[in-house]
Amino acid sequence: MAGNQQPEVNIGLVGHVDHGKTTLVQALSGSWTDQHSEEMKRGISIRLGYADATFRHCEGLEEPECYTVAEECPDGSPSEPLRTVSFVDAPGHETLMATMLSGASLMDGAVLVISANEPVPQPQTEEHLMALDIIGIDNIVIAQNKVDLVGSDQARQNYEEIQEFVEGTVAEDAPVVPISAGQEVNLDLLMQAIEEEIPTPERDPEDDPLMHVARSFDINKPGTTADELAGGVLGGSLVQGELEVGQEIEIRPGREVEEGGQSEYVPIETTIRSLQAGGEDVDAATPGGLLGVGTGLDPSLTKGDALAGRMAGPAGSLPPTWDGFTMDVDLLERVVGTDGEEGEIEEISTGEPLMMTVGTATTVGAVTSAREGECEVNLKRPVAAEPGAKIAINRRIGARWRLIGLGTLKE
Ligand code: GDP
Ligand code: MG
Repeated sequence: MAGNQQPEVNIGLVGHVDHGKTTLVQALSGSWTDQHSEEMKRGISIRLGYADATFRHCEGLEEPECYTVAEECPDGSPSEPLRTVSFVDAPGHETLMATMLSGASLMDGAVLVISANEPVPQPQTEEHLMALDIIGIDNIVIAQNKVDLVGSDQARQNYEEIQEFVEGTVAEDAPVVPISAGQEVNLDLLMQAIEEEIPTPERDPEDDPLMHVARSFDINKPGTTADELAGGVLGGSLVQGELEVGQEIEIRPGREVEEGGQSEYVPIETTIRSLQAGGEDVDAATPGGLLGVGTGLDPSLTKGDALAGRMAGPAGSLPPTWDGFTMDVDLLERVVGTDGEEGEIEEISTGEPLMMTVGTATTVGAVTSAREGECEVNLKRPVAAEPGAKIAINRRIGARWRLIGLGTLKE
């Protein structure tokens, strides 16, 4: 079970559906992210399942046996907590690529789970690795899962397929750790690899706090009277700085205001009334893990993820809001996917609709001008982002949005 420590690093669990991501998170954290009923009750769960795990150390044991999630060592002595990591369990279903990408913006590293009993790569194995490449996540550990289902020859063959598959990608040098999440085999070896490959990022506590809002809620039951009403709740992750109860924050782009048929987004200001990190009420929160922020906002403003995709932080410190922007474009070599729609990617053309993920924000836009390597888009909904921000660009191909390239926001 998670300890009292606040999580200090976010690790994405990525890979093809059914390869064992959720089973692995459960084995390491003792919670089942697909249900996240506890978080539901607390009103801070997000579509991506978050689960915290405290990695612990047993003195006197060699590596990797010294790594454990149990509070008691084999000899009965108590284990020492090393650090608490927060796993972001990305969904593997193909239509949820945007969710995966928005989750990727909150990941400090990733565990790529690959099943040992299937040919490599399966479609989302490839697509998720490409997304890690695009977002620039290169602290990667590969978990070769379900080794209990294969003989040693097949395990070796699969291992070679994995090596061949990751050659020339961000995961080229990633360790491949054979495990069975289901049978809890080699989890100590996996923990050792995670400790070595995915360090806690160095952070400056003096930086202005910056939060990616991934969800927002109204946690009140229907029929709650006005004087009992709890303020709106934001769920998301801090990428830098520290937030405290009582602090004034701004949310950008704020909310849509219509005037004379014109719609405009105005920033929202509010006060932090409560903070939840690592599943506990805290006075101050630092980066890592999922954060719940109770605010003084009218809950109708936060209801139903109305503020998802926004940024929050002290007034005046947030990145600018864009109704449209110019981006440098790097197209992928080809579309990857499941349903025979693989193929070359054509240049972006003026007038075409694109879906773009910037941080935790997903927005649709129309291309107003396209040149080679660059295009200008008009957004349906504005986003807050720093120049230089990475943008995952999706085009509708067949029945769904497909990742076609990476944009970089221009000044
Ligand atoms: P996800 O879609 O990647 O989250 O996959 P799940 O964790 O839901 O696992 C899919 C199925 O594979 C479930 O039926 C699990 O019980 C099973 N599974 C997961 N890990 C293992 C393993 O190490 N060995 C075996 N035999 N089955 C596993
Ligand atoms: Mg799952």
